[in-house]
Amino acid sequence: MNNPKKIGQYFHRGRKIGILLLLIVLLPVLFYSGYEISTLNRTEEMIGSVYARQLDVVLFSVNQYMLDVASSWATKTEILLGSGSFEEFFSNNPSVRGIVVVDSSFGSERIYSTRQHPFPRVIKVGAILATQRKLVERLFRYRRLSYRKLEPIVLSSSKDSSTIALVFVPEKRPEYVALILDNRQCLTDVIGKRLADAAGDEFVLGIVHTPTHAIQFSTQPVAEASFARERRLWLFPEYSLGIRLQGETIEDLARGRFVRNLVLILLLDIILIAGAWLIFRTIRKEMELIDLKSDFVSNISHELRTPLALIRMFAETLEMDRVKTKEKKMEYYRTILRETERLTRLVNNILSFSRMGKNARQYHFRPLSLNGVVESVLSVYSFTLSEQKFNVVTELMPDLPLVSADEEAIAEAVHNVIDNAIKYSAEEKFLRVVTSQKDEMATLTIEDHGIGIAEEHHKKIFEKFYRVSHGLVHTAKGSGLGLALVSSIVHDHRGSIRVRSTPGGGSVFVLSFPAYLKDAQ
Ligand code: ADP
Repeated sequence: MNNPKKIGQYFHRGRKIGILLLLIVLLPVLFYSGYEISTLNRTEEMIGSVYARQLDVVLFSVNQYMLDVASSWATKTEILLGSGSFEEFFSNNPSVRGIVVVDSSFGSERIYSTRQHPFPRVIKVGAILATQRKLVERLFRYRRLSYRKLEPIVLSSSKDSSTIALVFVPEKRPEYVALILDNRQCLTDVIGKRLADAAGDEFVLGIVHTPTHAIQFSTQPVAEASFARERRLWLFPEYSLGIRLQGETIEDLARGRFVRNLVLILLLDIILIAGAWLIFRTIRKEMELIDLKSDFVSNISHELRTPLALIRMFAETLEMDRVKTKEKKMEYYRTILRETERLTRLVNNILSFSRMGKNARQYHFRPLSLNGVVESVLSVYSFTLSEQKFNVVTELMPDLPLVSADEEAIAEAVHNVIDNAIKYSAEEKFLRVVTSQKDEMATLTIEDHGIGIAEEHHKKIFEKFYRVSHGLVHTAKGSGLGLALVSSIVHDHRGSIRVRSTPGGGSVFVLSFPAYLKDAQ
């Protein structure tokens, strides 16, 4: 990927693949997730409303039951009003503490009550009714329609007890009959029993004193204000009926399910997106590799053809005996030799590369002096370096520890780095080779003042086939294999390679190898 046009093409193709993946994989996934989340919410809402309705039905049936009981009291009262004898009625229905009959003008009151539980006579039902005009009108209106309506009125109210009267107009006479109820008795005996039946094993039902939120009665011990739904008790204005599920409420279950499903969907989305991203990256990498390989083939054929052409040309000239001076002949021989060496190195690189990554390369480790390798490689390049007028500085540490290494492989690595330093040097021809020791490592530093490498390429230059797209690369031909081989050799020796370089500021390659320790062998 060596020129801007190609990079543009990659970008374009990468974007195409990205859009394709987005359309094929991500959009349906995201669409499905959105749909699932919205229906999830709707399902939970539906479950919630079904549950609420079920609770309402239970509350309604309890209220209806209480109304039925009160109606039967009223019917019996109407019958007994003729005789005025309520003793048996009171003893059968202990919730009714007394009966007060008020005449239509609220003038006089007849009171019937039990001797055991007399109700406080200070309460003047007639006087209270006289203030409740609307209620009174309602009672008569219903009576005219042949319907007996029961209306509750609060006679006295305190935190602990209150007295309620259920008022109705009897069929025969235009007067008001008030059933004075013992609140506690009524709530626990009459409604309480019914609540226990209605609650079954699934629900907790209770009666709440609305103003104080105190739980008056409940089928199971529950905390205050923990009912999922509360409805006013029709006949007891100050009390409500409460209901909730035993254990976890449906809302809790629905909420838990919603959160769990949401997390699951999001998790799946993340995994899918990550998968799509990985596929995208792999495809892009593969495409890059395909193009790099095709670059490699054209580079390598050029690399092979150039020295062959030179060797042939100089050999033919020599064969025709056209070269007159001895010096010129020597120069031609040297060129042939240099180009042969270049060819050998290239073929060696290709062979090494073919073994790279397959663990096919056999190393023969032995204690080795890095200095010796450096010197022998530099001697191979001495002619080239002096011909190109390189300023060569060598600082080889005298007591450099040996390293356990394969000589041929290390020489190959050093060759490649020095070759690059020469190849990528422009006007300023400078080469510095330093060996040193740091901790337990023997280090080789190769510095040039060449064209340098931009930061973004520092990692990639060690990948196979990678070549930086700068002007000189087009003139300085290469295979893109050199540094990949160097890196592979260095790592096979448990060493490391680093680069420091800036465009125009030259490059420094630092190769470190673990020192050979006699005792450790
Ligand atoms: P090549 O055969 O292209 O030299 P390498 O793997 O040896 O392949 O190097 C990869 C790329 O790293 C080169 O194409 C070049 O762009 C860059 N490079 C390597 N060494 C140097 C250096 N000393 N100075 C500048 N650029 C370098």
